[in-house]
Amino acid sequence: MDPALGPPEAMAEKRDELTPMMAQYHDLCARYDDAIVLFQVGDFYETFCGAAERTARLLEIALTSREDSTGEYPMAGIPIDNAESYVETLLEAGYRVAVADQVEEPGESPGVVERAVTRVVTPGTLTEDELLASDDNNFVAAVARGRGSGAKSDDPELALALLDVSTGDFFATSSTSSEAIADEVSRFDPAEAVVGPNAPTDLFAERCMVTPYDATAFDRERAGETVSRYFRNPDALLASDAEIRACGAALAYAEYVRGGEHEGERDTTLEEEAEGGENDTDADDSDRNRLEYITHLTRYDPREYLLLDAVAMRSLELFEPRAVEGREEATLVGVLDETACALGGRTLRDWIRRPLLEPDRIEARLDAVEELTADLQTREPLHDRLRNVYDLERLIGRISRERANARDLRSLRDTLAVVPEIREEIADADCTRLQELHGSLDPLVDVRELIDDAIVSDPPIEITEGDIIAQGYDDGLDELRATARDGKQWIDDLEDGERERTGIDSLKVGYNSVHGYYIEVTNPNLESVPEDYQRRQTLKNSERFVTPELKEREDQIVGAEERADEREYELFCEVRREIAAEVERVQGLADALATLDALVSLATVAAQYDYCRPELLERDERAGLEIDIDGGRHPVVERTQESFVPNDATLTNAQRLAVITGPNMSGKSTYMRQVAQITLLAQVGSFVPARAARLTPADRIFTRVGASDDIAGGRSTFMVEMDELATILREADEHSLVLLDEVGRGTSTADGLAIAQAITEHLHDIVGATALFATHHHPLTELADDLEAAFTLHFEVEQVDGEVVFHHDIAPGAATGSYGVEVATAAGVPADVVERSRELVADAASDGTADDDDVPIDAEATDESTTATASADGGDVPTDIAAELRALDLAHLTPVEALTELDRLKRLLEE
Ligand code: ADP
Repeated sequence: MDPALGPPEAMAEKRDELTPMMAQYHDLCARYDDAIVLFQVGDFYETFCGAAERTARLLEIALTSREDSTGEYPMAGIPIDNAESYVETLLEAGYRVAVADQVEEPGESPGVVERAVTRVVTPGTLTEDELLASDDNNFVAAVARGRGSGAKSDDPELALALLDVSTGDFFATSSTSSEAIADEVSRFDPAEAVVGPNAPTDLFAERCMVTPYDATAFDRERAGETVSRYFRNPDALLASDAEIRACGAALAYAEYVRGGEHEGERDTTLEEEAEGGENDTDADDSDRNRLEYITHLTRYDPREYLLLDAVAMRSLELFEPRAVEGREEATLVGVLDETACALGGRTLRDWIRRPLLEPDRIEARLDAVEELTADLQTREPLHDRLRNVYDLERLIGRISRERANARDLRSLRDTLAVVPEIREEIADADCTRLQELHGSLDPLVDVRELIDDAIVSDPPIEITEGDIIAQGYDDGLDELRATARDGKQWIDDLEDGERERTGIDSLKVGYNSVHGYYIEVTNPNLESVPEDYQRRQTLKNSERFVTPELKEREDQIVGAEERADEREYELFCEVRREIAAEVERVQGLADALATLDALVSLATVAAQYDYCRPELLERDERAGLEIDIDGGRHPVVERTQESFVPNDATLTNAQRLAVITGPNMSGKSTYMRQVAQITLLAQVGSFVPARAARLTPADRIFTRVGASDDIAGGRSTFMVEMDELATILREADEHSLVLLDEVGRGTSTADGLAIAQAITEHLHDIVGATALFATHHHPLTELADDLEAAFTLHFEVEQVDGEVVFHHDIAPGAATGSYGVEVATAAGVPADVVERSRELVADAASDGTADDDDVPIDAEATDESTTATASADGGDVPTDIAAELRALDLAHLTPVEALTELDRLKRLLEE
């Protein structure tokens, strides 16, 4: 274990001799032994021993030491006031942080001040706004294994639960395929994973923090109890035991990080439970930690959405740009996100993460987007008003966790105040989706009135120091305030009265925090001081006095003010609880606002960038996809450069495999990606960057694009490539859209071509997927002519005065050359190198050793009978080897088997 975690050795050895405070620290470290314990001492959070050394280094703060009768301990502390930024650094360094606060005032009870862990901060369970991205969810995942359900109940299954503790968003799914679960993990991209014993931690390797957690939380029975404290009938809601176990563990973990043992602010909740009375003690105990705002659990099947694995999400640049430097906005979400509030931002991301399959749901979104796109008079004011919407989901989460202050309540009120205006904007909407939203926009008038009546309009952040509750809300409070006010008035009048009574014109009434109110008389006037004045303080030029009546009034003021502050706090907590009871209504409203914002965002983009409504084609279960795009553009690339050349794409069941050739940089990969992105956008319910688009929704998009080394995983570019290809060949079907870019580059030309060819045939003959295949291997264009449902496309470039000009427009047929040398010139490769390259190309062409990449293959060489192809040394591939290659069943070979097989074939060639 990390020496910074767990009880410090130096303390553990002499636990019984430690001072009470250090014993407390030791015990908390033992209890939260997977976290760094931040231990409140006055205005600081301190760490000691190994943890102090570690935090001092990580946070760049001073390492000091503390000495007491039992020894000297290294110590490092951070000021409580800006603890969050330090906590963030610790999280980034891969630690969890347990915050141990003083939970009573010093001196409140005899002995050492009581401290308790009030929250455990972990990457996946953050709730602090400062530590969270506002427009993205932050999920903690839990996985459990179990027996499956339904017909395949004997197959072991993996279940995945995903919970956003800051918003209450909660999802569960399961599958017998661990790859499918891995895809869901990359879809939701959790910040942390909670795992029980024997959990498949490799699902999360390199992805997020993995937290081993209490095995009993994953127990079927215990997990069932946990889930049923939140949802009435877990067995009906969830599909299997494994799902119940994963969900139970996720909830238990969320409760644990809330800092379970400390009652503090939650006293009244306990009282309420006592009133309820019928629960047994155990349930009382666990119910206390219940997170009331977790009210919905969405159980889904991965097959309900367009499947995108990690590779596809990356290569289609959904959330992360491919080129890292300086192009953060160059992602699909970057171009689509015109949302006005955090709620809409998160919803839009969810839509992009989980594009729909079901036509009715897609059309419902498209109808709304169409209506909003056409109506600028509605869209713009809506967009403006949505800007005033606070993050209601996280707000109600804080209210429910009793972490909200009075300003949060005012923010809620301000949002509720704009709801009627937003509602009004869509009052006359035609489409069903907008009409439904109109119905769901409940302005929660009662909640708004409660806040208006109870909370002043500009309250302070502190909730225990008064000035929160509005005048007229509570008679008792008003009385206390009146008493304090009367007392102050009496004191204000005192100065004039006493001047008159004593005849001392310079007499003053003042206040200081040590002695309270006093009457000050300068030395020359001391003789006129009346008898009832009692001396309190002697200064250089004057004396200060009190009178019994002044003291009495002072006590009255102080007493009333203190009680008023207490009363205000009580009332505030009551109001907060009253609002917390409305959690589901607030969440319903938040949901409607989020959806509306996401739709307005899609419509804004559609209007601004001239997108069109895609037409969804009905799916024929036996046939493949149909894609017909007229004048399509790449949504991301078109934004990053001045002009973009639109291109068409037509793929049908009869013509479903396009082999695309053309020189480097001519636009092949942009073209393929834009077809996939347009398909994906349509399934999100968005308009698409094209003049017109008609398409059948795809079940899954696969990509094999570009070379990437998996250095951490110890796999070469070629291995990564083969691995990704194996997945595609294994899992794609006729409802998949497959993009392949330059397959087979990581090996010799002959091997690469062989693999590319075998894959093309397999995709065509067996998988039947709709596929776009960009390649350097010109023989593949010939192959395309032979395969019934394959065809060729190419990008042509022009040579003007020895320079290459890219037109970026696609045309039928195969390209004639690769122009590699010319592209090198354009890229600024020195002239002598270019010249030498030209000579070499010319030599190669004349003596027949040219790489097949650069010379269109001789028509005779592709004679049906031999299907011979040019190999690296210029000879033909013997028919028997070509036949063996064709017979290779790549779908059932592991990458290593494929390599071995290739190696064997290569040796045969060399013999
Ligand atoms: P290839 O895959 O053929 O090597 P890319 O698709 O990567 O080429 O395109 C190279 C560059 O050309 C892109 O980064 C982009 O700037 C530009 N480009 C591609 N397609 C178009 C287009 N249709 N209109 C305008 N520019 C384009």
